[in-house]
Amino acid sequence: MLKSFEAKIMGNISEYAIATLGSHTALQILRGAKDEGFKTICICQKGQDKLYESYKVADEIILVDSFKDFFQVEDQLIQKNAILIPHGSFVSYLGWEKIQDIKVMHYGTKGILEWESDRTKEREWLTSAGLRLPKIFKTPGDIDRAVIIKFHGAKGGKGYFIANSPEEFYERIQEYSGDDGYVIQEYIVGVPVYTHYFYSPITQELEIMSFDKRYESNADSIGRIAAKDQIDVGIRTSYTITGNIPLVLRESMLPDVFEMGENVVKESRKLSNSLTGEKLTKGLYGPFCLEAIVDPDLRFYVFEISARIVAGTNPYINGSPYTWLKYNEPMSTGRRLARDLKEAIESDRLQEVLG
Ligand code: ATP
Repeated sequence: MLKSFEAKIMGNISEYAIATLGSHTALQILRGAKDEGFKTICICQKGQDKLYESYKVADEIILVDSFKDFFQVEDQLIQKNAILIPHGSFVSYLGWEKIQDIKVMHYGTKGILEWESDRTKEREWLTSAGLRLPKIFKTPGDIDRAVIIKFHGAKGGKGYFIANSPEEFYERIQEYSGDDGYVIQEYIVGVPVYTHYFYSPITQELEIMSFDKRYESNADSIGRIAAKDQIDVGIRTSYTITGNIPLVLRESMLPDVFEMGENVVKESRKLSNSLTGEKLTKGLYGPFCLEAIVDPDLRFYVFEISARIVAGTNPYINGSPYTWLKYNEPMSTGRRLARDLKEAIESDRLQEVLG
């Protein structure tokens, strides 16, 4: 079996293939890779391959019963000199621990995925980067304002609820029988803003790629019926993501947004992998996203970081207003990523973007 460090390292991109799982942001990753001249491989779950065939973004499709079977096809990827691009589905199917065992070439620092997957670690990282985060209440008795209660295992924000006092918290928590832990977080009244960044270790530049807001069911439809009807029918808010809506930010806010991204990247180089104790010296690079609520005083309250490409970049397969400023050609985040790999390969610096 070939190990990643034995993979053939050559200065020509035709010797490599870019591979990803067929879900999440695979269409733009594969299309972007093709635009940059790479061969592409899509690992698809049986029954979901037609879509990728139809868009002709994959030169090769490898079928698996489930993404959880990724390790069964890893040797094939190594033989093909593939570079794997992680995305949200990849992290959610495999989990950050298993990702540490991947032998095939992998774009991005694997150890960073632990820090985005653990709410406590994530908070430590973002706080040390000087970002403003919603306050966390240690005990329900401390609740003195609107709070959102987030259950650890909740997929898509299902079951989250809002309370305004300890009494309201204790009343609502009775409805939940699961043994998942939860966090009590200050509820920020404002608008959600998801910022998509790209940091290249090759150019050593940070780029703001785009912004989105999410389209969540049923949170985004509750306002369509009267408050009285919501109460009568007993509607409970959930935040299941169904799509993403493009967004452009007030220009005066961009300098702060840029600085937040820079600080997060800088601070990431001080983090370490809890399994190996190794320092993550390369830190965070490639695409990442800061998820925030912006209040009426235009303060950003960051409640989450995604340390890999996010689905919010999907509206921009043909580029965003911001990428147009920098590139006189369509530049999706998927393509930007392939460009980073291409520049790394052609300047004999591939190891700098593998992690
Ligand atoms: P995860 O990505 O960890 O599975 P999730 O995406 O399902 O979590 P969150 O991102 O934590 O859930 O939150 C879901 C939604 O709730 C967000 O889109 C946002 O609109 C809203 N939200 C989250 N935290 C806050 C907060 N502190 N104040 C106001 N709204 C919030």
